Amino acid sequence: MSESFVDLHCHSTASDGTLSPTEVVRLAVRSNLSALSLTDHDTIDGAAEAAAEAKKAGIDFMPGIEISAEYPHPGTMHILGYGVDPHSETLKSLTKTLIAGRDNRNPRIIAKLQEMGVAITMEEVENEAGGQVVGRPHIAAILHRKGYVSSIKEAFNKYLAQGAPAYFDKERLTPKQALEMIRNSGGLPVLAHAIQLRTDNDGQLDRVVKDLLDLGLAGIEVFHSDHNPEWIRKCEGLAAKYKLLKTGGSDFHGTNKAHIQLGVARGHRVPREWFDALVAKCAALK
Ligand code: AMP
Ligand code: ZN
Ligand code: FE
Ligand code: FE
Repeated sequence: MSESFVDLHCHSTASDGTLSPTEVVRLAVRSNLSALSLTDHDTIDGAAEAAAEAKKAGIDFMPGIEISAEYPHPGTMHILGYGVDPHSETLKSLTKTLIAGRDNRNPRIIAKLQEMGVAITMEEVENEAGGQVVGRPHIAAILHRKGYVSSIKEAFNKYLAQGAPAYFDKERLTPKQALEMIRNSGGLPVLAHAIQLRTDNDGQLDRVVKDLLDLGLAGIEVFHSDHNPEWIRKCEGLAAKYKLLKTGGSDFHGTNKAHIQLGVARGHRVPREWFDALVAKCAALK
C-alpha cells in the first residue's frame, strides 16, 4: 500500500480560518489526505458540515477543538481536544463560556485601535468573522485590507501580539479545567505546539507535560508548522517517556496564515498511523 497522510490541526470559517469546513475537506482531498480533524478555536460548529463533506468525498474525519489555557507570559498553552461529542452539554456550555471571553476582550482591542487612529469598528470585525468565534486574525485581516499593515504577521507584531499596544488578554480556563472539559465531553486532550510554551529548558518542559499528564493528557503534537527538528525531537521524546499519543498538523488557516499549506507541517507530512491510534484510543473510551 502506498503511504497515507493526514492533517490533525486546521481551522475553518467556524473560527479564524478563511475556508469553510466544506472547502477545507475538499482541499484535503485534493492534497491526497486520507483523514482530517478540524480543530477550530473554541467551537465545534464546523464539525457537522465537515463530517458530511468528508463522508461524501470518502475520507475519514474526526471532530476536534482547540482551547487556550491559562499559562504565564510570554508563553501560550493550547490544548487540542479530539473526538469530543458535538452533542455533549459540557461542550456546549464550555464553548459558550469561551466565546463570552472573546466577546469581552474584542471591543477593548477595537477601542484601543480607534484610540491609536485606526479606522475600524466592531461591526466590521463581526462581519469579517461571519460567525460566533471572533479572533485577532479577523482584526488583522481588516488592518491588512485597509493598508495599515502589509501582512497579517505585521498586524500582530505592530498591534495585536502579546506585548503590542492593542493586546488584551481574554479569560481562559485553567489547564485543569480545559483537560477536564475535554475528557467530560468524551474527547482526548493533546498538548498543541509545545514550542509556544516558551519553556526555558527541558526540565521545565518535562514538568509542564508531567503536570498535564496527571490531569489526563493523552497526547502531544509532534509535527506542527512551528516545530523545527529540535522541537520534533523533544516532543517525540516526551511521547515515548510518558506513553502519549503522537499527533501532528499544519495549523492551516487559509489566507489568515498564508504561508501554511494544508497537510504540511514545516515540510513534514503526518502519518496515517497517528490518526488510527487516536481513533482507537477514542473508541476505547466509549
Ligand atoms: P485569538 O484566539 O483571537 O487570541 O487569536 C489567536 C490566533 O491568532 C491563533 O490562530 C494564532 O495562531 C494567531 N496568532 C497569535 N499570535 C500571532 C502572531 N504573532 N502572528 C500571527 N498569528 C498569530
Ligand atoms: Zn487560529
Ligand atoms: Fe494554537
Ligand atoms: Fe490552531
